[in-house]
Amino acid sequence: MLTGKHLIAGQWVGGDATFGNEPVSGAPDSFAVGTVALVDQAAKAAEEAFWSYGYSTSATRAKFLREIAKEIDGRGDDLTTMGVKETGLHEARLNGERGRTTGQLNLFADHLEAGAYLDRRHDEALPDRAPLPRPDLRLMQRPIGPVAVFGASNFPLAFSTAGGDTASALAAGCPVVVKGHSAHPGVSDIVAQAIDAAIKTCGIHPGVFSQIQGGNRAVGQAVVQHPLIKAVGFTGSLGGGRALFDLCAQRPEPIPFFGELGSVNPMFILDGALSARGAEIAAGWAGSLTMGAGQFCTNPGVAVVTAGAEADSFVAAAREALKPIGAQTMLTDGIASAFHQGRDRIAASEGVQSVLTTTCDLRHATPYLFATTAMDWLANEELGEEVFGPLGMVVTVADDVERIAVAKSLQGQLTCTLHMDDADTETGRALMPILERKAGRILANGFPTGVEVCDTMVHGGPYPASTNFGATSVGTMAIRRFLRPVSYQNIPTDILPEDLACEQPRRQPE
Ligand code: NAP
Repeated sequence: MLTGKHLIAGQWVGGDATFGNEPVSGAPDSFAVGTVALVDQAAKAAEEAFWSYGYSTSATRAKFLREIAKEIDGRGDDLTTMGVKETGLHEARLNGERGRTTGQLNLFADHLEAGAYLDRRHDEALPDRAPLPRPDLRLMQRPIGPVAVFGASNFPLAFSTAGGDTASALAAGCPVVVKGHSAHPGVSDIVAQAIDAAIKTCGIHPGVFSQIQGGNRAVGQAVVQHPLIKAVGFTGSLGGGRALFDLCAQRPEPIPFFGELGSVNPMFILDGALSARGAEIAAGWAGSLTMGAGQFCTNPGVAVVTAGAEADSFVAAAREALKPIGAQTMLTDGIASAFHQGRDRIAASEGVQSVLTTTCDLRHATPYLFATTAMDWLANEELGEEVFGPLGMVVTVADDVERIAVAKSLQGQLTCTLHMDDADTETGRALMPILERKAGRILANGFPTGVEVCDTMVHGGPYPASTNFGATSVGTMAIRRFLRPVSYQNIPTDILPEDLACEQPRRQPE
């Protein structure tokens, strides 16, 4: 079932050095450690593949994406078994995540067939225009070249080997080199087998996809620095992401680094909603905060409420809802250790009260709840930094002035949430221009965990939520990250890219 190897342009490649995965229980599996030499081989093969794959039609790539989805589904049971073993995530979650993964591959196939992503434009020639004639001009989006993808620890399927970054890059026409995440090399191995099978069925150049397993930090650095790599998709920590972003910027030819890093996803629970259904919101928050051991980039870590008796009831209700939630296994020892350190940092911060203190150790997480005032929050910007796991902070504000100040103090976020009733319209209206500057997605009367994969999703935001505020890593717009516009002036139709040559003119001569 497992190869234990890297997949380099259709060849399964082992090596002398190996590393083990970290199963929740049972014996570890062994995987070859990645090397810088393999990165070079994979990038060169990707460049070679680009000369055919980058010029393939949308229909060819749509068929390929659907075939990958089919091959992944065919390995569904193996993927779930290995995922449970490596990540501690539950079977139902992994089955659901597989559906999301194949669903987004099929969604990109539909998106390619619809064709709008090409943004084809045509300004027809005006030979008689005075004082100068206008040439025939066409524009279309073209793929940028080989793309590197870092698998994410918290979504072994939907954000890893064949996840959203890979799906959108392959959809665009870009070959992909994946740096597998060392937290789930077994799942990555099986998914790579699925992609390999799809490449063979569709007769595509094998360099279109390679995967190098982890175990060696130099591999990640070599991937982003390789001159043939033209962009990077990444989901992970602020520290790791920033280090790799800086390497991209320092290259002789800088390239875009699409990193999704940290977010505390604040919720503003406005007075009318707090009064009408504070306990209900608190219970919903507890569920969202602890789902999947809180290991979601959209985990709502902060709740802002007006101080007073209703805020006290809200805090008490959140505490009661969180208290019975037991220890959950985290994705890796390292992530659990980072959670414990983050919890200790918050607990020791000035002006922060512990509302719910639990006990967890080793690879486990239990929920923690803290409270602070707007004044203390504003005095210590570290309180706004992500603690990855089930940790909530209630910030009490004295009035709308403090609420606005807290909103303005926020770093860039993936999401901001309003809980509001009709009576809160004025406050909601005042917050909207601020939240819009802070987040990629604003939602009302819901919880941000659960990201719809669709045309209108933005999963991104100002730094540090992401390193590129103009992009999303979820939804069909994610394809734009790996495209660039090219203008074709007076180019004969016979030598235009096929997708452009078949397009009818949109703009008639004036
Ligand atoms: P990570 O440590 O940033 O690692 C992500 C990937 O980048 C891994 O493949 C890692 O390689 C590589 N990497 C990291 N730093 C590197 C460097 N300096 N040079 C070269 N490669 C580097 O993230 P993680 O392992 O997923 O989780 C750790 C923390 O990330 C969590 O505690 C949490 O704070 C955060 N996180 C956030 C999100 C989010 O969506 N906001 C999601 C997941 C995790 P190795 O595999 O070799 O380490």
